[in-house]
Amino acid sequence: MKTVIIGAGAMGSLFGGLLTLSGEEVWLVDIWKEHIDAIRLKGLAIEEKGKTLNISIKATTDVRSIGKADLVLYFVKTYHSEKAVSDSLVLEKEDTLFLTLQNGLGNEETICKQVDRKKVALGVTGHGATLLGPGYIRHAGWGKTYVGEIDGRIADRMNKVAQMFIKSGIETKVSPRIHDLIWEKLFVNAGLNALAGITGLRNGQILDFPETLRLMEALVNEAIEVAGKKGIRIEGNPIDRVKAVIEATRENRCSMGQDLDRKRRTEIDAINGAVVREAERLGIPVHYNRMITDLVKVIEKTFI
Ligand code: NAD
Repeated sequence: MKTVIIGAGAMGSLFGGLLTLSGEEVWLVDIWKEHIDAIRLKGLAIEEKGKTLNISIKATTDVRSIGKADLVLYFVKTYHSEKAVSDSLVLEKEDTLFLTLQNGLGNEETICKQVDRKKVALGVTGHGATLLGPGYIRHAGWGKTYVGEIDGRIADRMNKVAQMFIKSGIETKVSPRIHDLIWEKLFVNAGLNALAGITGLRNGQILDFPETLRLMEALVNEAIEVAGKKGIRIEGNPIDRVKAVIEATRENRCSMGQDLDRKRRTEIDAINGAVVREAERLGIPVHYNRMITDLVKVIEKTFI
């Protein structure tokens, strides 16, 4: 399956590297020239559990040079999606599948504005990666990846994608309830990212202070209420699952924290901001999510 990854940062490079190692034809596309030049010159370096893999992989800044793709995989930050999707339209043929594994809400809508929704699929991944420098990433976390059709069908094309991922060591399942899983991941991101981001804490410290624990639970409970009203099926106790993820990544500084530390734009609009937007549509008050969204947005404004 000829796969083109749009956004070859931490996660795009991780997936691209693993797929290439398993023998798949993969192209990495990124607008960051220094990174692409480094990959072309020296290969992609993936640091994993203390070892570094060096992978020879096709990489370009010019998506038009690739031809058509069987699979287009989006791994840009959510605020770059609109442009990335429009750039990627040159890759489209009759049966191209457009898949997003980005975090947050709104990715489906952004892609479907420009691509026929029959060609779009969604997913979430529990893997984590960090960009260390041009051509150099760290595989920082392991977890399951889920992919699924928007309408919940278990289609042959989704099984093919899952098989390809599994062959490359990415544990993957096709889910008939991908929207539920996107919200499940959102609960973690909504409870953790902005809160750890603005307090400067590492993930696990959120559980150590009664104040941050209370705030985390309030943020997640609001998101759960919105999800429930939207008809998202929530199993078990999501707060416990959020706590378990935070505990398992105790020593990490979350990605929004790293973005704020480096004075970079965050994905707040796709995370707590998205909870606020959905809540407004449903007439549900979500004061905690609104406040944290506003705080992060003001911090971002001071970067300019
Ligand atoms: P990143 O910032 O490391 O990489 C994004 C890349 O996209 C950058 O290299 C940027 O130059 C590139 N880009 C921007 N606009 C582009 C365009 N028009 N065409 C091509 N490339 C473009 O981000 P990341 O950490 O890899 O995250 C990507 C997505 O995956 C986000 O939605 C994030 O929330 C999600 N995610 C990240 C992790 C993680 O551990 N990093 C885990 C799960 C999900």
